[in-house]
This record gives sequence, C-alpha cells and structure tokens, in this order.
Amino acid sequence: RAWRAVVITLLPESFPGILGQSLTGKALKDGIWQLDPIDLRPFGEGKHRNVDDTPAGGGAGMVLRPDVMGRAIEHAQTRAAPGAPLIYLSPRGKPFDQGRARALAKGPGATLICGRFEGLDQRVIDHYEIEEVSIGDYVLTGGELAAQVMLDAVVRLLPGVLGNEASTEEESFSEGLLEHPQYTRPADWQGHAIPDVLMSGHHGEIAKWRREMAEKLTKRRRPDLWEKKKS
Ligand code: SAM
Repeated sequence: RAWRAVVITLLPESFPGILGQSLTGKALKDGIWQLDPIDLRPFGEGKHRNVDDTPAGGGAGMVLRPDVMGRAIEHAQTRAAPGAPLIYLSPRGKPFDQGRARALAKGPGATLICGRFEGLDQRVIDHYEIEEVSIGDYVLTGGELAAQVMLDAVVRLLPGVLGNEASTEEESFSEGLLEHPQYTRPADWQGHAIPDVLMSGHHGEIAKWRREMAEKLTKRRRPDLWEKKKS
C-alpha cells in the first residue's frame, strides 16, 4: 500500500512543488506514496471564507481559527491512512530528525498541518492532541516548506524509492555519525589529489578510513551527536 500524506494548507498549489521532481516525483508517479493537499480556504467562515482572526489579548498578526481548522482536520481524517499521526509543523515543536523520518516511513502515512500567520489556536492543538514538530530553530513564513522538507526525508526512505537501498544505511545520521568526505574523478583536480587510501582498492582500509573520518568530523562539528553516540 502507498504511504499516504495528507496536507492541510492555505496554499495547496505549492504541492507537490519540488517533491514532484527527481526521485520523490518518480515515486509519486509510481504510486509508492500519495499526496493529498487539502485547501483550508473552503472551510472558512462567511462569504469571504475567513480563516483567521486577531490574537486574543492583543498583539501583532493573525491566528488561524479553531472552528475552521477543526472542520479541515475532520475532513482530512476521512482521507488519511488509519493510524497516521496528526502533526502540526511549528517552530515550537520537537525537532525533526532522521530517527523520526525512519519511524514515519515505517508507518502508513502522516497528516501534516501547515500554519500561516501566527499559527494555530491552542485549543485546536489540545483538542485533537496534535503533535508539534519543528524542522529547525528558525521561523518560516508558513509550514509548507517545512512539510516538504519532512516529506522529502521520509519518502526517500520508502522501499523502492532510491535505486541503491544500501545508500541510506551509510549516509549521515544512520549510525549517529556525520558522513565521511566523498570524492570522485578526476584523481587530481587543481593540484588536489584524492586520498591514497581511496585509490588503494583495499576495502578494509577504506572502511576503516571512512569510519575514522566520520568520527573526527562528528566530534568536531557536532559534539552533541558525538556525546549521544558514546552514551
Ligand atoms: N508565531 C509562531 C511562533 O513564534 O512560534 C510562528 C508562526 S510562523 C510565522 C507561521 C507558520 O510557519 C507556523 O504556524 C508553522 O506552521 C510554520 N513554521 C515556521 N517555522 C517553522 C519551523 N521551524 N518548523 C516547522 N514549521 C515552521
């Protein structure tokens, strides 16, 4: 069965976006995953289908109305795969990482809510027990790019999407380490040579060198990952 993404958004035309290209696009065409963008606008209030209002207590910006979002969520749930988690992309959320991508890829799909303006009314988050997930410590104008980042990371892990299945086992984060440096032809470029060991044909030595480089890089650039790896 296809992995199923249902996405609630005010900008449905921004999907599939870049996910329609390259490997994720081919996987979409091949039916390995499905994408169902749901436009929030028709669930809006009144003639103008308003979806937002000013923040209670004052302050800048607008907040997405809980009644409007609630109707969209009810509808989305009729389209989602049974058991798919309900996730709101939000800078306040739990950081998204490769482990979460793997867990999601093993499941039936996900329903993703893209915020705009100042985000969702807290009551709708509480009522539906929506999980908040962040793609990093910075603020985007909307959740659409964040949803696409998450979907890209998940879809490439679905069986049959990458030509070479082994490539997800050796890349960054797969063993809690950053990946070793990569090289390709020409052997000499502007006086810079490929490290001898990689040209030696000695698989054991190559594996050892790659491991050492991965560890060195992780220690230096991501002491947080290195600490986790050791414990
Ligand atoms: N007022 C919110 C706050 O300070 O936490 C920021 C709202 S942001 C301008 C609008 C929408 O963009 C959010 O509702 C969320 O869906 C999305 N967004 C922004 N940054 C994000 C991030 N780092 N990860 C995931 N989604 C993000």
